[in-house]
Amino acid sequence: MKSPPPPPYDFLVVGAGYAGLNAVAALQHACPSATVLVLEQREEAGGCWNSLYSFVRLHQPAFVFGVSGQAASWGPDARSELASRHGVLNHFQKYASSLPPTVAFLFSASFVRCERGDAGLLHVDVAFATRETTRVAARHVIDARGADLKLPQLACLREEHERVAECYSEELRRVVQSRRGEACCYVVVGGGKTGCDAVTYLAKHAPPSSRVLLLQGRPLYFIRRDRMFPSGNCLKEISVPVASEVFLDWCKAYDGSNALELLRAAERDGLLMRVGEGEPQLTNLGVDGARTTLVLRSGKTIELGAEQRVVLVKAVGRLVEDYNASGEPNVWKCMQHPIQPDGRVRIGAHFGFTGPSAYLLTILLARGKLEELPFRGYNRLGTHNVDNLFYMSTAIVWHALQAARLVSPLDMMSCTIMFDKFGPMPRQLFALSKLLLASGKLEEQAHKLLHPLRPGVIEANGVGGGQK
Ligand SMILES: Cc1cc2nc3c(=O)[nH]c(=O)nc-3n(C[C@H](O)[C@H](O)[C@H](O)COP(=O)(O)OP(=O)(O)OC[C@H]3O[C@@H](n4cnc5c(N)ncnc54)[C@H](O)[C@@H]3O)c2cc1C
Repeated sequence: MKSPPPPPYDFLVVGAGYAGLNAVAALQHACPSATVLVLEQREEAGGCWNSLYSFVRLHQPAFVFGVSGQAASWGPDARSELASRHGVLNHFQKYASSLPPTVAFLFSASFVRCERGDAGLLHVDVAFATRETTRVAARHVIDARGADLKLPQLACLREEHERVAECYSEELRRVVQSRRGEACCYVVVGGGKTGCDAVTYLAKHAPPSSRVLLLQGRPLYFIRRDRMFPSGNCLKEISVPVASEVFLDWCKAYDGSNALELLRAAERDGLLMRVGEGEPQLTNLGVDGARTTLVLRSGKTIELGAEQRVVLVKAVGRLVEDYNASGEPNVWKCMQHPIQPDGRVRIGAHFGFTGPSAYLLTILLARGKLEELPFRGYNRLGTHNVDNLFYMSTAIVWHALQAARLVSPLDMMSCTIMFDKFGPMPRQLFALSKLLLASGKLEEQAHKLLHPLRPGVIEANGVGGGQK
C-alpha cells in the first residue's frame, strides 16, 4: 500500500467500487495534482463484485463498463464479451494500482461520520478493522458507498425432505460440484439477472440429464440486446435506437399514466421481450409422498417427478433494503440531492448507470458547478412499479441534459455518460445531439412529473413527487 499524502486531503472518497473508482478517474481528469484519499472497508478495490456469486457476468459488453477512459484495459474481446467477476475485479484492481502517489488507498478502514469544521474543511471519523479510530480532514468528501444490499430470507420449503435441498445462488457452484455428476432437477426461483445467470451456469455445468426449471412471478420485460446494444459497424447502425435513445423517447412520450402502453409499443417494435403471463410472485415447494410438487402461490402445481433429487436455487438476488446515504429507510436515489446536510457529496446512479454518473458528478464538483445543477426527484411511493421506471428515466435524462450544459465536450467524451455509453464516437455524438434537440420537450416533462430537490436537505419519502 502506498503511504498517504499529508492531510488535509483535497478529496476523500469513501468506497473503492465502480462509483468510487470513477470518482478517482474524474479527479485525475479534472485536477490531476489534487491529493485524494480513498477509504475502503474491504481489503481490496472492486466493491460488491468482490462478494457477488462466483458465476456472475456483466449484462453488457465489457467496454461500456468499468472505469471511464480505461476501456482499453479490457482486452480484444471487450465488444462482445460479458466479463466474468474475475474480469471485472481485475479491471478495477489494475486501475487502483496504476494511480500516482497523490492518490492513496486506506483498506479495512470504514467511514463512520462526517462533520463540518473550520476553514471549509470536513472532518471524517474512520474506524479500522483493528478497532482503532482516527479523524481525517478533507476539503471535499465524496460518498460512493453503494447501496445497502441484503439477502432476503425466504422460507420456500413447506417441509423438509431428504430429496430436496435449498441454496442461494452464492452456494450453487459448491452444490453442483458436491453432487459429483449426479443429475438433479434444479428449480431456479427468480427470473431476474441472478436467475438468468444461474440458468446459464447450470446449462454449462450441471450433468446433461439434469432438468432446469426457471420460476418467475410477475412477467418481466427484457431489453433485446441484439436491438439496443449496437456492436460492430457503428455507422451502419446509426438508425437503430440504442437503449438510452429509447429511454429518451419514452420520457418525451410519458404523461404520468401511459407507462404500460409505452412498454407494449416497445415490445411490438421488437425492442423489448416479455417473459411470463402474470404468474405468482413467490413459490412454495411441497413434498407429497414419492412425488415432489411445486405449489405456486396461485394454487397451480407443477409435478417434478419422483426420479430426481431437487435443488431449489433461490436466485432472488439481493434486495436493497435501504439506501445508506442518509441512514433513512426507503429514501431512494432519485429522491436525494447529492449534496448532503453534513457536506458530503453522495454519488451513484443519479444519471443512469453508476460509473458514468459518478464520473460526471465528480467532474461537476471539481469544477465548482455542482450547486448550479438543478436536481429533480420523484415520489417512489406515489407511483406503482411500472410508472417508477418512467419517473426514474425522466429524472435521469433530465439531469444528464442539464449536466451536459455545464461541462465541456471534452468532459462528456471522457466520461461515457448515459447517452454515449453504448457506442463509439459517431454514435455518441448522434445520441448527444438527439438529447439536446429534445431538450424543450424533456424540460416540459420534467417540470410536469418531477419535483425539485434542494442541496443539503434529505427529502422525506412521499413528499412532492409526480402529479398523477
Ligand atoms: C448481480 C449483480 C450484477 C450486476 N451487473 C451489473 C452490470 O452488468 N452492469 C452494471 O452497470 N451494473 C451492474 N450491477 C450493479 C452494481 O450495483 C454496479 O455494477 C456497481 O458495482 C455498484 O457500484 P458502487 O460503487 O455504487 O457500489 P459497490 O460496488 O457496492 O461499492 C461500494 C464500496 O463502498 C464500500 N463501503 C461501504 N460502506 C463503507 C464504509 N462505511 N466505509 C468504507 N467503505 C465502505 C464497500 O465495501 C464497497 O467496496 C450489478 C449488480 C448485481 C448485484
